[in-house]
Amino acid sequence: MENCIFCKIANKEIPAEIVYEDADFITFVDINPQSPGHVQVIPKKHARWVWEVPNFSDYFALVRKIARALQGTFGTDAVWMKVMGEEVPHAHVWLFPAPYEAKGEKKDFAGNAEKIRRNLSA
Ligand SMILES: [Zn+2]
Repeated sequence: MENCIFCKIANKEIPAEIVYEDADFITFVDINPQSPGHVQVIPKKHARWVWEVPNFSDYFALVRKIARALQGTFGTDAVWMKVMGEEVPHAHVWLFPAPYEAKGEKKDFAGNAEKIRRNLSA
């Protein structure tokens, strides 16, 4: 979709610290993090709401996989998920370690992405 910032990230027109990518989905570090390791999990193909993502069960299986990789990476097993959809009109799931427990520098985008990638491949 034209002028959709998440479509632009999915198409690599806007740079982002990418944590995970496959044919259908991409996960990247949020630029306004609630805590260290805050990521957005989105479908590559534009959908307005998460409920409109065709392969919904694959989508949420990935959300769980990323959440599991976040657990323990920033000093806590508490990983929060938030789904609203108001901020950017492209389906997205927020995942972030509990802000009051998470350890690390939340604006270390490259470093935090690397830590999550390492845990995902472990
Ligand atoms: Zn979009």
